[in-house]
Amino acid sequence: MRPDLDVTVVGSVNVDLVATVAALPLPGETVPALDYAQFIGGKGSNQAIAAARLGRAVAFVGLVGDDREGTAVRGALAAEGVDVTYLEVCEGVPTGRAIVLVDGTAENSIVVVGGANQSLGPRHIEAAGEVVRRARVVVSQLEIPLDAVSAAARTCEGTFILNPAPARSLPRELLDLVDVLVVNEVEYEAVTGAALPDDVDDLERAVREPGMPPGVVVTLGARGAYVWDGEQVAHVAAPRVKVVDTTGAGDTFIGALADALSRGEELRSAVQWAVRAGAAAVRSLGATTGMPTPEQVQALTA
Ligand code: ADP
Repeated sequence: MRPDLDVTVVGSVNVDLVATVAALPLPGETVPALDYAQFIGGKGSNQAIAAARLGRAVAFVGLVGDDREGTAVRGALAAEGVDVTYLEVCEGVPTGRAIVLVDGTAENSIVVVGGANQSLGPRHIEAAGEVVRRARVVVSQLEIPLDAVSAAARTCEGTFILNPAPARSLPRELLDLVDVLVVNEVEYEAVTGAALPDDVDDLERAVREPGMPPGVVVTLGARGAYVWDGEQVAHVAAPRVKVVDTTGAGDTFIGALADALSRGEELRSAVQWAVRAGAAAVRSLGATTGMPTPEQVQALTA
């Protein structure tokens, strides 16, 4: 057993190729880029970095391709202190990529190339063994195949957090294994089949329905989050901040939630912490740049 294992992320890692353009190209059109940059991305990798910045021992279970990008993202995660022992190299496929076009109004178009992420399966979860089984918190998202997510959920003996993003409906067998479901409004609708209620009482009725996980968190952007802890739904307001870029806010929120839960906090206070961490992250450009340290979260009062 590795008593030092706080958080294991089973998820995706991408290289984000970001071109800034004056206007998004129409079908058939070619436009010049005004600027270009590459970043490490993918929801799994972002959430792992967020938890590591907050001081947790984080392990990553995932796949990169046998290309230069794979070596680069592996190095970038390791540089953040994430244990990449189980971030394996998959032969013959590219590392996952997101091809992002951003125009002058911050409108974007994104193409995601699943690449190696799509080859992650139950055998990789099995190979990681106790790293998944014994972590206090295991976090997963849906940029990897569902059978890998289900294998992680079945293997995890700690708290299993699922962020069903990109949004889709979930098989009942998977939802039954989730301890804490973290959704935004779009993902809430995809999972429950109903729009997010405006009213806290209506939400409480919805999350009490059989088949819903014992913990449900709904993130609400600038409005903070709702948290259902099995007893009641509470609203946690976000502090007011100067918004520069909301990319990665949701991932920072989840990394911080995993951080707090792995330190033994109750779900409601963990959400209070995560809301402040998410708010801290939107003050800087880029998904991971603004991911806060504990001191930066503490400095933000609601
Ligand atoms: P997603 O990016 O997954 O849709 P949200 O937009 O709900 O997620 O944001 C996640 C969290 O980030 C929020 O719960 C909040 O804590 C923080 N956040 C996002 N946008 C803002 C904002 N404009 N002001 C303050 N906090 C924000």
